[in-house]
Amino acid sequence: MFSKKKITVAYTIEQCTKCGMQVKRKFKEGDVLFVNMTKCVSCDGLTMIEKIFGESTDQ
Ligand SMILES: [Zn+2]
Repeated sequence: MFSKKKITVAYTIEQCTKCGMQVKRKFKEGDVLFVNMTKCVSCDGLTMIEKIFGESTDQ
């Protein structure tokens, strides 16, 4: 019946408020848009969650 399975994976984009660097990582529970702040890996700034989206991949 189904030859292909579609799997949707949620991703989170974090952007540094200081240098603007973006990091794409898998969404994890507790991620909230524009709220979470973690330390930037390339400067001493803080990152903010810019975008949360789902991507479908064929398996
Ligand atoms: Zn930065």
